Amino acid sequence: MKHLPYFCRGEVVKGFGRGSKELGIPTANFSEQVVESFPSDISTGIYFGWACVGSGNVHKMVLSIGWNPFYKNTKKSVETHIIHNFKEDFYGEILSIVIVGYIRPERNFDSLEALISAIQEDIEEAKRQLDLPEHLKLKEDNFFHLPEGKIVNNH
Ligand code: ADP
Ligand code: MG
Repeated sequence: MKHLPYFCRGEVVKGFGRGSKELGIPTANFSEQVVESFPSDISTGIYFGWACVGSGNVHKMVLSIGWNPFYKNTKKSVETHIIHNFKEDFYGEILSIVIVGYIRPERNFDSLEALISAIQEDIEEAKRQLDLPEHLKLKEDNFFHLPEGKIVNNH
């Protein structure tokens, strides 16, 4: 897929309260400015990769690039679900991610159960993919060890 791997760093902001956390799948949202810095032709859909909050450990993640309902679907939103149990929220922290691969396009679901089970499958797929040596090596990338605040896209 075009543009991958894609490196990105930015502050975690409040989303539009779609209740992701209530579903057990909180998604850390990037600000509008960070989303604007993405290539405009990057496909919407579900991706997998690596993520790190502040100078913390690097964890597996699934990420959605979707159309932002707040802007009547004229702008995109980028939301990262980190596959790790955090004790506390981390709004305002710097989230560093590398988007490694694509899982599937965006789609609508008939029920909440169907949505949740699709996300669970995405998470399992991400875990499997990220264990492959070619994907595992990005976990050790220097990008995750750079001083905070430096924006490094496309490496
Ligand atoms: P919002 O609409 O504000 O994005 P969410 O319900 O999507 O609300 O929850 C996102 C917030 O939950 C993140 O900004 C972060 O502070 C917190 N959070 C806790 N655990 C995780 C996790 N594993 N992955 C992503 N965000 C998490
Ligand atoms: Mg969110």
